[in-house]
Amino acid sequence: MPFTDILAQDHVTDHFRKTIAANHLSHAYIFTGQDGIGKTLLAKEFSKAIFCTENKNDSCDLCHNCVRIENNNHPDIHWIEIEEGSKFLKIDNIRDLQHSVKLSPVESNYKIFIIKAADRMNEEASNCLLKTLEEPPPNTIIVLIANSLAPVKETIKSRCQIIRFHPIPTHIIEDQLIKRFDADTSKVGWISRFCSGSLGSAFELLEDNFYEKNRDIVNRISVSSIDNLLLAEEVINTYLSPSETLEEKREAFRRILNCILQFYRDLLVVKVRNIYGAGKKIPPLFNADHEDALKRCAGYLTQRQITEIINDILESIKYIDYNLNINLLVENIFTRIAMLNSPERG
Ligand SMILES: [Zn+2]
Repeated sequence: MPFTDILAQDHVTDHFRKTIAANHLSHAYIFTGQDGIGKTLLAKEFSKAIFCTENKNDSCDLCHNCVRIENNNHPDIHWIEIEEGSKFLKIDNIRDLQHSVKLSPVESNYKIFIIKAADRMNEEASNCLLKTLEEPPPNTIIVLIANSLAPVKETIKSRCQIIRFHPIPTHIIEDQLIKRFDADTSKVGWISRFCSGSLGSAFELLEDNFYEKNRDIVNRISVSSIDNLLLAEEVINTYLSPSETLEEKREAFRRILNCILQFYRDLLVVKVRNIYGAGKKIPPLFNADHEDALKRCAGYLTQRQITEIINDILESIKYIDYNLNINLLVENIFTRIAMLNSPERG
């Protein structure tokens, strides 16, 4: 895939096109930005652009090198990732790298090591990697892929060039979904707004019928009297399958909470729209196809109640990663919503 086909990261592709042409490559990079915006794809395309025998600073996708890189079997490109069933990159994964960097490239001018999930490296692995970065071996490029920079050690960050990836604009995601899938426009519109600029998430949401799930959740929470425990039980039974791992449950619950968050954010938009009228520039509704339910709920909730619910949801989202009992977290948040949702309370 030529650099021009990579979506919405022109600042990154322009930079690499120039540095590859000028032969000014760094010995280590961190590609950072949320999941699903093209970091891994770019690591691959960047490797092709360096090794391509047809083009000087871009991939051709046809030469022997490009084809092997595409199929993950080029001898000078090493992928390092978390082993299945493990939560972190461990020292053994990095020791392999430490050993291989000392060897000469098999057939090229460079060796490239691409470390996926570099923000999930344990202490020992980080220290081991640091040693390699402190004495960068010649002809070696190490690319760390990290959704977040925060967990990466300062000493590692300071030895790498940091390349920040941007969220993909909504209209570009919408175009991609229309091009690739035969989905209706309101569904595509909702998913491209909900995925927060991640094309990877957009694909998952579509595959997981999340538009339909959101519709169901909105219908359940937009009734005036919520039976909190019944609702919590329904959500647990419908959306959190017992066969899922804790990690999968967390992710599913995070998405459910985001649906609810967007619903209450829409209520605020309706409130503000009522106060200022149509003249002011007010953000569009996330759930535009639920406008009647939104107007109804905005009628019986005060702005303060809505803000309190939003704050509670944000708090719960923060605690998902630390909480072992997801079911309890579901019950807690619905109890709070039901309490704040009560029309009698003002
Ligand atoms: Zn090529």
